[in-house]
Order: sequence, then C-alpha cells, then structure tokens
Amino acid sequence: MPGSVSAFRVFGVPVRFHFTFVLLLIFLIVVGLEGSQSALADVLFVSGLFVSVLLHELGHAVVARRYGVRTIEIVMFPIGGIARFEKAPKARHELWIASAGPLVNIAIAAVVFVSLGLTSGLKLEGIATLTDPKDSNLLERLALGNLILAAFNLLPAFPMDGGRILRSLLAIWKPEEEATQIAARAGRMLAILMGLYGLISMHFLLVFIAFFVYLGAAQESQAALGRTLTQGIPLRAAMISRYHTLSHGQTVADAARLTLETSQQDFPVVHGELVVGLLDRHALMKAMATAGGEAYIAGVMERNFPRLDPNMDLTEALTAMANTGPCALVMEGDRLVGLMTRENLSEFLLLRRFGMPAATAQAVE
Ligand SMILES: [Zn+2]
Repeated sequence: MPGSVSAFRVFGVPVRFHFTFVLLLIFLIVVGLEGSQSALADVLFVSGLFVSVLLHELGHAVVARRYGVRTIEIVMFPIGGIARFEKAPKARHELWIASAGPLVNIAIAAVVFVSLGLTSGLKLEGIATLTDPKDSNLLERLALGNLILAAFNLLPAFPMDGGRILRSLLAIWKPEEEATQIAARAGRMLAILMGLYGLISMHFLLVFIAFFVYLGAAQESQAALGRTLTQGIPLRAAMISRYHTLSHGQTVADAARLTLETSQQDFPVVHGELVVGLLDRHALMKAMATAGGEAYIAGVMERNFPRLDPNMDLTEALTAMANTGPCALVMEGDRLVGLMTRENLSEFLLLRRFGMPAATAQAVE
C-alpha cells in the first residue's frame, strides 16, 4: 500500500503504518497534554487502544484464513486498521470475516468489565467519572474505548465492517454489485453528514474521520465497479499482444533505446524461445543508475517475474495486479502470449466504462 511503512509481523502477517497514523499520534499527544492524566497513563491508554485495534484486525485475518483467504498485510490508519486480503471473500463468508473484528473488541470490553466486577465489585462510578479521567480508571477507559471501536465499526456503511456486513446481507437477495453500491452510498452519506456535523459543532476530529470514511467508501465503489466491468472476461482480451522482447545478452542501453523508440516500458527477456525474465521500467531505471548502460540485461532483470494465465478471469487479474507489481507476463505454460500492465488494465476499464461491450473486448486479440 502506497504511503505506508512496514513495521513488524504478527502470525506471519506484516503490519504496516499509513503515514496519516502519525497525525493521530500527534493529536493524541496534544490532547494528552491538556488532560488530567499522568503521562504514563496516557501512554498505556494509547498503547492499549492500539493493541485492541491490532487484535480486531487479527480477528478478521484469522476468520478469513478459515475460509481460505490469505491476509497480505494489515495497514494501520488513524481511524483503525485495514486487513488487506489476497482476494475478495465470498459474500456469505464476508459476513463472518467482517463480524469477527468488532466481536473481538466487544469480547475485550466484556473481559475487562467482568474481571473488574469480580475483583472490586463493578465500580459504576468509575464509568460515570470517565469525563474527568483519573489514572485509576485506565482499565474502564480501555474497555469503553473498545466498545466505541466496536460501535463505530458496526456502522452499516463502507468502509466500516458494518458496511461489509450490510453488503453480505443485501447480497442474499440482490446482485452483489448492487449491494456494494448501496453500502458505498451509505458510506458517502454518512461521511458527508459526519463532516457537516463536525464543522458545525467544531469537532474537527469528526471532520478528519469523515474524510477517511469518504475516501474509503469511494475506493470500495471503485473496486466494485472494476469487478462489474471485468467479470466473465478472460485476461487475454485485455492483455498487450503486440510487444517487443529483449534478449538476455543485450545491454541496459539497448533496453533504454527500445523504451524511447517504442511506447513500451516493460520488456520480457528471452533466451531463444525461452522466457527467462522481466525487465520493467523500475528495474531499467535502477539498472541505468547503478549498473550503467554497459551492463547485460541478464544481470539486472527479474527472474522471479509475476506470471498470469491468459484464460484467468480479468476480475482475478485485477486483484493479482494490485499485489504483484506494475507488470506481469501472460504465459500459456512456458509460452509467452502477452503482457499485462496496470496502465493497460486501467485503459481497458476506461474503455469498458465508456461503452466498449464485453463481446468486442473479447474479439480483440
Ligand atoms: Zn474491522
């Protein structure tokens, strides 16, 4: 995910931080400076919430794994985390995957409240004085924070988990794409209302959150539109079928010249009939800068290049391209039949959107 930095792994799932997460930390520090809590209590509270969000995302990841959907990464945003899956789960599986996160937060709150109740008799006054926080009610505040996390995430609008739950329920009696659009529309409406309310009532954190909700909802409906435009179309209909190849014995300078002479930026590297690698634009620039024009392609190309099957559904290719990189080779067994790039894919989507029928798309080869 662009704009994020890798941090650590939990159960083999990489956890990354989006740069906007830093904004949240700054905000919390500013708020903390004005509060009546000790600095230690503030740090514990923020860390506790952070761990709660992480456990929430792991809840999604664990249930997704039960349905055979791998989690590529967890990205921490200011309004929570996002578990990115390798493919879109089936609608009826999504119901459980989406519910798992908020359920984790409810479980944490329940455990804290029950154990507090057992040890000291539930201090209801502890909850009542939350507005005037003291260090002693740290656990109550954490439990309450988890309930707020669960409630916020259960709002029936994209990109919240509640939006996913809504979509999977709507998908029982509506086409999936329509269900997605309804949940995304709900998300945009919610974001606009939240933003307006935030502006009027001068709660700027709400405006901030509304902004992210809006972006998330727009992204979801965009992805859904992509799925509608590609479903049932084989990858070969959208791939680049006229292209140049480089020989592994050619030099980086040869590749640079070919980039200028043609409009191609990513090149399959062949050795006779055999495809041995891929030199994409990024690798070419890097090679120019570090190895120089004299270097052989064989030394700078990617040998473990991403490959796609020409008969795979374009919808799957869309997800695959989001994870692999800017360019993949389309291979039928060992035979190279085409190239697939992100630019090409978005061009295809644009043409489809402006009316190119699926049949024409499939006829073009
Ligand atoms: Zn969630």
